[in-house]
Amino acid sequence: MIKVEIDSRSGFCGGVIRAIGKAEQYLEKQPRLYSLGEMVHNEAELERLGAKGLITVRHEDMVRLPAGEALLIRAHGEPPATYRKVGELGLDIIDCTCPVVLRLQESILKAYQGLDGKGTIVIFGKIGHAEVLGLVGQVGGDAVVVENAGQLKEQFEKGAIKAPVELFSQTTMNPAEYETICNYLTSKGVALHAHNTICRQVADRHRLLADFAKAHDVIVFVSGSLSSNGRVLFELCRSANPRTYMAGTVADIDSAWFRPSDSVGVCGATSTPKWLLEEVARHISTLS
Ligand code: SF4
Repeated sequence: MIKVEIDSRSGFCGGVIRAIGKAEQYLEKQPRLYSLGEMVHNEAELERLGAKGLITVRHEDMVRLPAGEALLIRAHGEPPATYRKVGELGLDIIDCTCPVVLRLQESILKAYQGLDGKGTIVIFGKIGHAEVLGLVGQVGGDAVVVENAGQLKEQFEKGAIKAPVELFSQTTMNPAEYETICNYLTSKGVALHAHNTICRQVADRHRLLADFAKAHDVIVFVSGSLSSNGRVLFELCRSANPRTYMAGTVADIDSAWFRPSDSVGVCGATSTPKWLLEEVARHISTLS
């Protein structure tokens, strides 16, 4: 019989729980709430919130919203230009920026002011990711964003990174890669102030998820296809356990992945709802 265990640390992070809670509270009294970008990178959860009245809009759609409508800013945060635009349009802001992201935005601005035109702000993050756009926006775009140590080396070699370096990270990045980036800059003798801004919840998850993946025969990683954190954590599980599979919902699960005596671990990204992990676990346990 297949044994199934859900990773107790998987599921929404605090920032996402807080944002969804605020949206649901609002929608208990109002018929609709606009969300600037997908509130969470999980299609199944978006469908659930959509049924309650949450409508996802893009930045370019904001101008078409009637003044007085409420617009939710996600846990990822937004650059100052967005707040200015929302103000001009007369929309009400429901600000769900995660307090951890808010502190990170403030630290980047402070470090930038401290550099006073000398040195470089380097952000380890996914180019074009909403959180990263919010971070870069704090300094009017005057920052170098790198997705990995290879890109950092490239930027350094072409002279785009000047010392001293104030190094920050998007909150959901891989701690091991962050270390590699720090080590590279140090090995080049660059004066470095490394602000380790990977969210504690994410860092702990990275550390413990590999152990969880090794402790089972098969891992089913549940994540929406748009989640960058999901892709990073999926790869981490796969390198610890080659029998790791990705599933967006129950419909993606293939019974050929399992043998009757397998122990199966079910885990997910910071954007994967707990109810979906439970649904997947229930489904797998009926396959034996
Ligand atoms: S990962 Fe951490 S910093 Fe990012 S939204 Fe979640 S709780 Fe906030």
